[in-house]
Amino acid sequence: MIPEFFDIHSHLNFPDYGDELLLIINRMEKNGVWTTVVGTDLKTSKEALVLAEKHEGIFACVGVHPVDEPQQNFDELEFEKLVAHPKVVAVGECGLDYFRIDQNDIEEKERQKNLFIKHILFAIKHDKPLMIHSRSAYDDLIDILQFYKKENSHLLGNVHFFSGNLEQAKKFIAMGFTLSFAGPITFAHDYDEVIRSVPETSILSETDSPFASPVPHRGRRNEPSFVIEVAKKIAQIRGEDEEKTRKILVNNALKLFKIH
Ligand SMILES: [Zn+2]
Repeated sequence: MIPEFFDIHSHLNFPDYGDELLLIINRMEKNGVWTTVVGTDLKTSKEALVLAEKHEGIFACVGVHPVDEPQQNFDELEFEKLVAHPKVVAVGECGLDYFRIDQNDIEEKERQKNLFIKHILFAIKHDKPLMIHSRSAYDDLIDILQFYKKENSHLLGNVHFFSGNLEQAKKFIAMGFTLSFAGPITFAHDYDEVIRSVPETSILSETDSPFASPVPHRGRRNEPSFVIEVAKKIAQIRGEDEEKTRKILVNNALKLFKIH
């Protein structure tokens, strides 16, 4: 079975859904939407896998977020138990986030870089793509990835909620990485130029649920079914047929996560 839409980054493992979680998963199934539920620490990574085991259209991504859990290190032995599961399709979310820190805090930047490198080595070892989170740190992130990519050509990944510039986008694409876009593209024009320029094999759709709802759901809790609005908007910005774009977005997700 192949889905109609693929939300490649959601947090159905977060407490925001409470007892409405099954309702939201039912709605996904009705809409033909699949999603990859992303962990931000060991606990939410395990919860992502529990959901993936229960539902055909849910996959899991396991890792430690650069700033959401500043106390947590990457416990490789624990994550090794998770990554062996066939429904774990990526490693993350991991990366660098300088947006919420003091720009002169070199120690914090080093901590994030070391944590990110642990994820890169883990992804190489287990041949999984990275699910990358980055804010205000794309240049440092690109430097690190280029270094590891040189020795490990099979290292791949997706930059989630991409908000960098065209030049940075091109560097990720040159390494074979994909870029995914979320709800804000439905109400802000900041992303249009990059979305129009990305080759059709390098673009993905996501929601980052429960955050960042697209129009017409703005201000409400986001959910994977709303990826339909993101996919429509990507087609519109690129001046493509909605049906064509829909298929491209699904195929790119299946390819990234090696789902056959
Ligand atoms: Zn996320």
